[in-house]
Parts: sequence; C-alpha cells; structure tokens
Amino acid sequence: MQDWARRIREGDSRALARAATWVEDGDPRAARVLDSLGGRPGHSLVIGVTGPPGAGKSTLVDRMARELRARGRTLGIVAVDPSSSVSGGAILGDRIRMQAHHSDPGIFIRSMASRGASGGLARKTAGLVALLDASGKDVVIVETVGVGQAEIEIVKVADAVAVVLVPGMGDDVQAIKAGILEIADVFVINKADHPGADRLEVEMEAAGWSAPVVRTVATEGTGVDELLATLEKVRRTARPRGEPEGGCRIDHLGIAVRSIEAALRFYRDQLGLPLGGRETVEQERVRVAMLPAGQPRIELLEPAEPDSPVGRFLEKRGEGLHHVALTVPDLEAAVARLRAAGARVLDEPRRGAGGHRYVFVHPSSTGGVLLELIQEGNE
Ligand code: ZN
Repeated sequence: MQDWARRIREGDSRALARAATWVEDGDPRAARVLDSLGGRPGHSLVIGVTGPPGAGKSTLVDRMARELRARGRTLGIVAVDPSSSVSGGAILGDRIRMQAHHSDPGIFIRSMASRGASGGLARKTAGLVALLDASGKDVVIVETVGVGQAEIEIVKVADAVAVVLVPGMGDDVQAIKAGILEIADVFVINKADHPGADRLEVEMEAAGWSAPVVRTVATEGTGVDELLATLEKVRRTARPRGEPEGGCRIDHLGIAVRSIEAALRFYRDQLGLPLGGRETVEQERVRVAMLPAGQPRIELLEPAEPDSPVGRFLEKRGEGLHHVALTVPDLEAAVARLRAAGARVLDEPRRGAGGHRYVFVHPSSTGGVLLELIQEGNE
C-alpha cells in the first residue's frame, strides 16, 4: 500500500481513480491506502456546496470549476446525493455539463449516490477528500443536496461551506431547514437576477443569519469570482494552523533550475512531494511546476528562453533559491508602506497567470533574497 500512497502523492491519476473506487465500494484496500497516506495533508481548499434541490448547485459548481481551471488550479469534485440510487444515473441535476470536464486531467470528478446509507456516505466522502488532497489538488468541492442531517454530516469535511439559496423558494427563511443554515460559512443567493433576491437577503438578516452573502447568477458565471475569494478568506480565518493573524505567511519558495524534469526526479520522485500543477508564465518567460509541501509550496522555475529573468539568474548565479514568496493581507498597503520606508519595490503589483496579484522587492532591501509579495486570498 506504500506504493499506492506514493503514486497518489505523485498525482498519478490512475492510482487515484483506483483508490477512489475502493473507497466508494467499501473495499478493505481503501482503509489501508488511507492509512498509508496518514490523513489529509491540508493542501487542498475543501469547499462544501449544499442547498435545497433546484437552487442551481450543479451549475454553480460547474462555473467554479471553470473559473479555477482558468486560473491554472487543479481540482476534485465529489458530488453526493443520498436521496437517489446509483442506477438512477442523473445525480444532482445535470451531470452532462460535468462531462465537459472529463477530458481535462486537471479535474477529477466522482458522483456517489446510495439510498438509505448516508452514514457510510459521510465516511466515504471524507475518504475521497483525503485522497484528492493527498494527490495535490488545489481545491476539492463537495456538492450535496441539502435536505437533512445526512448532508450536514457530509459537508462537515469542508474547510468552508457555501449554502446556496434562491429567491422565492418557500416564502420565508423558516421554511429552510435550520440545520443547513447553521453550517453556512457563506450564503449564496443564486439566480440573483430574479425578483425577490433583495427580500431574501433582508429576511436572512432579520432571522439573525450573519454569514457573508454572495449573489450569483450561476448560468452566466456572475459572482463566482467573489464567491471563491470569500470561501478562501473563510478558510484562512477559520484555520487553526498557527498562521499569524493578519500577517504574512510563506506561500512558496521559488527555485531556479535548468530543467524541471531533472529537478522533479529529486523533489517528486525521491522526496515524495506531489506535483500540484505545471504552467508557462508568458510574461516572465518561465515554465513553472508547483509542488505543495504542506500549505506552502515549492515552485520550480525553468527559463522558457535564455534571455528571461530566470535565464539571466541562472547565467549569473547558477541553480538555487530564486525568490521567497509571502502573502500579505493588503498588497497595495504593503507596497506603500515599504516604499515609504525606502525599500526597492520593483514595478507595480501585476496579475500572474494564475490570476493572483504580486510584486517583487529587490534583494538589496531584503537581505539578499528576491522577495515576492502576493495578495492573500487572490489565488
Ligand atoms: Zn513565485
């Protein structure tokens, strides 16, 4: 089972698929693989999406998936429907949309349905989430119909839970199962272009529900950006992992290498870090491989052209630590503060290929290391 665990950590999608099937089937090998993996590493942001039938959850999850993929993030989707049987086929509304993602290796999708075995479903969902996290997925979305206690158990595995509501569903908030509202970290008012969105929000407030409200029109992708940012913020503030409150945290260490392939033989194959994703950042003319190491990541940088910033770095200094990246709560404020104190901030904050905003600080101000500052929650 050590071998399976290693393959999953390396992001081997076939090993992941096999182990996921064992989890779903309750095969004894599932427990052994999960034991070998030693629990959730906590790299993935695990998002729970629940709400009553007809709220547009599947469309919303589909839009979130597209947005995350556009930012170069990898993800897993676990759709659970305790109320329908496996043979029923259509789980959680329109799965056909999800078929569009099936050819994308950056998305791993599983649907589970089983009548009357919801306790087992919660455990199986937690198992799938652990596998997806271990395999280095940046985000895992757990989607379930929010109709009862079973679903509450299922979304409890999430770092942040979005409860999706729609205007005009039962004329008052009391009609919605209170248990579902209680687990919400974020309320989504979907179909917000329909009349009654304002009224629903007012009713939520009047009933004393204080979680942040994000309005979306999932069919058009409206509000999805804001929803993802809000969920990321929830995870960060809820996370009891010793991250300094309101301060910086290490996001990644950038290491300049001549060949990512060669470096992966050490970092992935010998050290055992999962490969989270690869991309080419055109504006920096660099190829990048991200390897989660707990919450922070190792970023391998290979020049796409010799005459690029990383190419010139290699020429002058050889392979080695290229930069340290920290997230800050407010990038503009940090830049202003540092400039006022005389630090050499290079250029203005700009947007990377993954959609995050960043800026570099010259090594002459930082003790000899190029420093990348990244806007928190803007990944
Ligand atoms: Zn970087």
